[in-house]
Amino acid sequence: MPPVRRGFRSCAILAAFLCAGSAAAQDLAPPTQPAESAAPPVALLAADDRGQAARLADAALSGSGAFDVARALTVEVGPRLAGSAGDRAAVVWGLRALSGLGLRHVRAEEVTVPHWERGTASGWITAPYPQPVALTALGGSVGTSEEGIAAEVVRLDSLAALRELPSDALKGKIVFFDVAMERTPDGTGYGRAVGVRGRGASEAAKRGAVAVLIRSIGTDRNRLPHTGALRYAEDAPRIPAAALSGPDADLLAAQVASGRPVAFRLLLTARLLSDAVSSNVVGEIPGREAPEEIVLLGCHLDSWDLGTGAQDDAAGCAIVLAAARLLGELPRPPRRTVRVVLFANEEFGLSGARAYAAAHAAELGSHVVAAEADSGAGRVWRFATRVAPEALGLAAEIAAVLAPLGIEPGGNEANGGADIGPLRRLGVPVVSLQQDMSGYFDVHHTANDTLDKIGPTDLDQPAAAFAAFAFLAAEAPTDFGRLPPETDSPF
Ligand code: ZN
Ligand code: ZN
Repeated sequence: MPPVRRGFRSCAILAAFLCAGSAAAQDLAPPTQPAESAAPPVALLAADDRGQAARLADAALSGSGAFDVARALTVEVGPRLAGSAGDRAAVVWGLRALSGLGLRHVRAEEVTVPHWERGTASGWITAPYPQPVALTALGGSVGTSEEGIAAEVVRLDSLAALRELPSDALKGKIVFFDVAMERTPDGTGYGRAVGVRGRGASEAAKRGAVAVLIRSIGTDRNRLPHTGALRYAEDAPRIPAAALSGPDADLLAAQVASGRPVAFRLLLTARLLSDAVSSNVVGEIPGREAPEEIVLLGCHLDSWDLGTGAQDDAAGCAIVLAAARLLGELPRPPRRTVRVVLFANEEFGLSGARAYAAAHAAELGSHVVAAEADSGAGRVWRFATRVAPEALGLAAEIAAVLAPLGIEPGGNEANGGADIGPLRRLGVPVVSLQQDMSGYFDVHHTANDTLDKIGPTDLDQPAAAFAAFAFLAAEAPTDFGRLPPETDSPF
């Protein structure tokens, strides 16, 4: 077992991760008998490379060390809301983690981020049946006055219903958006429900509302509200907005259903401070033949402040770091550079994603493909791509190597992930190693997003998938083409 690398001797948890890798690393040397006897016919990927990818996956499955990374980030840093002390500590942690893995060119690339403080949140139904409720401010919400806001509640079941109302129909009212999220393995229920969180406050304010409540965008029955960012429109008054836990949304809906007028009092001390400095944390495994060509693996380093950001997104960073460690311990580096990016402030405006695309605009043409882990700790079950048509053959060959991990092909309309969205819109091919998100939204953005929700071996299969994919993308003799840009600006 090699010694723990310099810089980590005082860091027990990460040291355990680094040591955990050593046994697996020995498995990565080419065996005398290649182990890909059941491989499909191949046109592009070399048999040796498919075999090496399979061995990388096996090494990850037998202990990727990813859980130790998630543990380190949640225990040693914890909540890391953009602009907070935790965010700054996470950057320091990220630099140490990437250096400790032996990555090269490790650096912090500065990003300006908004700095919002949650403060306290209280809410009471004051009529017809008075009682307190559990709620939390939506990210970015303004606070109320010290007395709070007291007004009659109007329940709406969609943004569409709101848009059908006359311009002053909600004057002086508190709007309650009661939109239930559907539980789905691919997380699409979130996309269908989340619009009221982002746009509800401004849409309601344009019609005279004084505050907004939403049913939490989540799938659990805990009395814990789910936070998440809102976006104020430029042309609407900024009104306070909060999320009720699911059971409290049920309670409010039931009181509305009584037919009697429902009154509510909301008190938030949230506030927006001056912008702060954070960083994207970047490190690389330089390619041995084409170092200028980049395979990007991303996650986001920030989290919401209610929990410790275990599933969102310590898990994703752990998956990516574990994959990078395996690639870094190969007998020879992959042909292309593998770049790891721990993005700043995904949660509250994608500051890191935009800053990365802007800072690296000149080399985006050298970004061969990008992938992101930001879906919790579930197994990867589908491999979707968004690559040029001429690269679909290569994508199919990679999919065949991933198939023994229980991963099915997923078509060519992948989203990739929020942090690599600007790259995708500028023409960089992306893939989605889609994780099972059936349980993700039970804890997402809540105080319950803590390490105990991740099993010690949960992250090994996703790490295996990311390692095998990244290796093949970095070794492939051809690339993934280019996409037609959707925009000419990362903003
Ligand atoms: Zn996330
Ligand atoms: Zn999130």
